[in-house]
Amino acid sequence: MQNSQVVKESGEGCADAGSRPGYIQPHALKELWFHTGTVCNLCCPFCLEGSRPGDDRLQQPSLADLKPFIEESLALGVQQFSFTGGEPFSNSEVIEVLDYALDRNPCLVLTNATEPLAGHLGRLAALIEKPFALQFRVSLDYPNPEKHDAGRGRGNFNLALKTMRQIHRLGFTVSIARQSAPNEDVDAVNRAYQPFFEEAGLPAETPIVVFPEFHEPGSHPDVPHITEHCMTTYKSAEERDRFMCSFSKMVVKKGGRMRVYACTLVDDDEDYDLGGSLHEAMEVRVMLQHHRCYTCFAAGASCSEL
Ligand code: SF4
Ligand code: SF4
Repeated sequence: MQNSQVVKESGEGCADAGSRPGYIQPHALKELWFHTGTVCNLCCPFCLEGSRPGDDRLQQPSLADLKPFIEESLALGVQQFSFTGGEPFSNSEVIEVLDYALDRNPCLVLTNATEPLAGHLGRLAALIEKPFALQFRVSLDYPNPEKHDAGRGRGNFNLALKTMRQIHRLGFTVSIARQSAPNEDVDAVNRAYQPFFEEAGLPAETPIVVFPEFHEPGSHPDVPHITEHCMTTYKSAEERDRFMCSFSKMVVKKGGRMRVYACTLVDDDEDYDLGGSLHEAMEVRVMLQHHRCYTCFAAGASCSEL
């Protein structure tokens, strides 16, 4: 509830037309995200990425496509590799990619924990021996199987829970991502997951990442402009450093080319294509003009667990 208060006050402060646009100057590359392509076995109507079976808005990168970015990021001091989609386990080289990446850094994979992940459990088991840890973040939209399945397909809540139990038993860490509703009681909703964590054999303190409404890719919701004035008035330097575009970047394969985008949330807008290399991308000042930037500004939204 306190966050909602901040949203309103900050939003009003951003309405000062005429002021210069707000921006983030990247300060470090702590986390590097890889988009594994917009192919997904599901076709959720609320998908942030517009992913579905056969989709190729963003193509599936191979290990050979990703290796140069992994190496370049290590030279920049990256601390974690994270993978999102689409469904990463729909990418035929995902195990080879994780095998390579886990020799170099901890990895996080966002997954719907349905058939594609369940089908890879045998090969995944060996990755527990790697030098760095592999963590999974599973989408479990609501602490309510019927509500979850209404968007993700019948039976997928229970399948996700079963797969979470299996990956936890293999020794991997699991967190979940959920959607939020306006004015919800965040703690009460989070507590409602406890019986399901228990059922899956997960620790009671399993992290829950709560996402606000981000709107579909290519949409243009009417949100206040973020100005330089409101970024310096309502955000301290420390808070500006916590914007994802300040400490992370995302590598995507688009139009057959490997590109670096400002963050995980803006790959539908060419203005956030920052170049073909990480060194180049880290030099670019990120202008906060995408509607999802307002969600970051007002709600502190972030895909990162760092
Ligand atoms: S499972 Fe995730 S990536 Fe796939 S369609 Fe649903 S929301 Fe999109
Ligand atoms: S969506 Fe958020 S993290 Fe991405 S560029 Fe905008 S402010 Fe930065």
